[in-house]
Amino acid sequence: MHELRLAKPIAEQALKVAEAQSASRVTGIKIGLGVLSGVMEDHLREHLEELFAGTVLEGAQIETRELLPGEKLPGGEEASGTEVVLESLTVEEA
Ligand SMILES: [Zn+2]
Repeated sequence: MHELRLAKPIAEQALKVAEAQSASRVTGIKIGLGVLSGVMEDHLREHLEELFAGTVLEGAQIETRELLPGEKLPGGEEASGTEVVLESLTVEEA
């Protein structure tokens, strides 16, 4: 599996959220990592850091947690455990 495919939408979504909150800087990002997703956490992290470079997300601390099947997703749906989702951002406002 190539984690870049998963990192891209996360980075794009995080940028949108940061923009909507008029963030000057994002200091933290929390990601739910489906336990059945087969994602290598370190590899995902590497790609996220690449994608964050040069944006308000640069230097953000990336925190991941295990997402279990049956858990509620931020959108309200039930997780199958294969998802990789953005859960929250910690931002500094401009
Ligand atoms: Zn890769």
